[in-house]
Amino acid sequence: MQLTADLTGRHVLVAGARDEARRVVRRYRAAGAVLRTVSRPDHFTPDLLNGAVLAVVVSADDGGWPALAQACGAHGVLLAREAPAAPGGRVTLVGGGPGTEDLLTVGAQQALREADVVLFDRLAPHRNLSTLAPGAELVDVGKQPGHHQVAQRDIERLMVEAAQAGNNVVRLKGGDPFVFGRGGEEVAACAAAGIPVSVVPGVTSAVSVPAAAGIPVTHRGVSHLFTVVSGHQPLSDAEHVHLAGLGGTVVVLMGIGTLPQLIAGLRRAGMRPDMPVAVVERGYSDSQRTTVSTLAGIVTAAGAARVKSPAILVIGEVVRLAAGCEAGAGRLADLAEAVGA
Ligand code: SAH
Repeated sequence: MQLTADLTGRHVLVAGARDEARRVVRRYRAAGAVLRTVSRPDHFTPDLLNGAVLAVVVSADDGGWPALAQACGAHGVLLAREAPAAPGGRVTLVGGGPGTEDLLTVGAQQALREADVVLFDRLAPHRNLSTLAPGAELVDVGKQPGHHQVAQRDIERLMVEAAQAGNNVVRLKGGDPFVFGRGGEEVAACAAAGIPVSVVPGVTSAVSVPAAAGIPVTHRGVSHLFTVVSGHQPLSDAEHVHLAGLGGTVVVLMGIGTLPQLIAGLRRAGMRPDMPVAVVERGYSDSQRTTVSTLAGIVTAAGAARVKSPAILVIGEVVRLAAGCEAGAGRLADLAEAVGA
């Protein structure tokens, strides 16, 4: 059973060893409660419950603190039990999805709830973190495009140091940690420092941002494969030829800066000039915007619309399926018919 209560100004007693109870203490303090703490059962005296509305026992053992439990019964004070914080520091890499809280997984929400420190990125859902991670210190390590190198090393250092100090650290990243997220490097940094590390996958923008614009990355009879490419560096001509030769959907992340090179490369590699292309900016935000054109027209269209990062580029026939694009949703049936699906 879950209850919601306003604890502002209410007295709460937290019972448990200091290290084990620290997150619980921080969470109740953040909720505005006035705290009293007791760290050992033999230090408990019933007067500690005077004026308290709630006692929280932090113990691995369900039957721990019997005298306190008995006194709660006698004084009509609510008793809650919580598991202690795991001993020693650890790191959880959490995929936060494309920026909206709606797409945080249950696992991500749980990791945030249990965090002592959250290091979060610019593209992760971070607006409501003080509620999602009530016991945590929040650290903005948001990187601006083009300033990666030093920041990444600093982030890894911060993460490892916070865990070495005994904290439960959540590294909250945009999308999925292992899709161009440098998650692998962060796992390696933890492993090198002997810090236990786990990963909670997230909803990647590579699939969800096209979806936000009504574009399915695959569609029966239209595209049976999709390739996700980083546009951070220009591709080689061999890569352009491979991409053009695949015949499926191409999804490009971090591709705004290298858009002209990519489009020129795909045209040289023989991709049709009338191939539909969409740029979806700021997916899931109030200012989400989709610009639709063709391979031949997208550089001019993107320039005219002044498209900016963060944005996802989608190249392929599936773009025609987007509701609201010029061809419209009605094209879906025509297209499927044309290809005999
Ligand atoms: N790990 C992330 C990707 C990190 S690379 C993931 O799985 O989604 C950062 C790039 O992701 C941005 O440059 C942009 O191309 C894309 N991106 C992430 N969130 C986005 C959003 N809400 N709207 C548009 N593009 C987004």
